[in-house]
Amino acid sequence: MEEKRIISKTEETARRLLKERGVTIEDIGELVMYLQNKYHPNLQMEDCIYNIERVLQKREVQNAILTGIQLDVLAEQGKLAEPLQSIIADDESLYGVDEILAFSIVNVYGSIGFTNYGYIDKQKPGILKRLNDHTTGECHTFLDDIVGAIAAAASSRLAHSAKGEQ
Ligand code: MG
Repeated sequence: MEEKRIISKTEETARRLLKERGVTIEDIGELVMYLQNKYHPNLQMEDCIYNIERVLQKREVQNAILTGIQLDVLAEQGKLAEPLQSIIADDESLYGVDEILAFSIVNVYGSIGFTNYGYIDKQKPGILKRLNDHTTGECHTFLDDIVGAIAAAASSRLAHSAKGEQ
């Protein structure tokens, strides 16, 4: 039995924001599955979710979620000062701060995370494809990288723990 955990205000808010912005734990679970099922043929969705839950308990991950989603929402509402408003609203490819923020998540479980992150960012499977659809009027400039990074970090955690079990 897992011990009952007291969830901080920060964690609670980070989880709520992900949900409000249309990202479920299962969506992220599918990304972890996409990254890891070739290495772990018997991988179950519940293993993916278990590792995502652990990643979401990290303070630096929660901070990245709060910061990135806040900027996306303000850009969507047109409330940022120029030139940042246009840069984020248009998801300008040379901006790069969205990726740098995501690195603070990937970093949590070491260097395999970077390879996973780079791969998933190029392929854009599942939820990442939807978050990158620029025709919806929504702004997910930061969120797509954050979600990819959570999946990459959970994949690294899973890979490390599988290695530990052998
Ligand atoms: Mg982005």
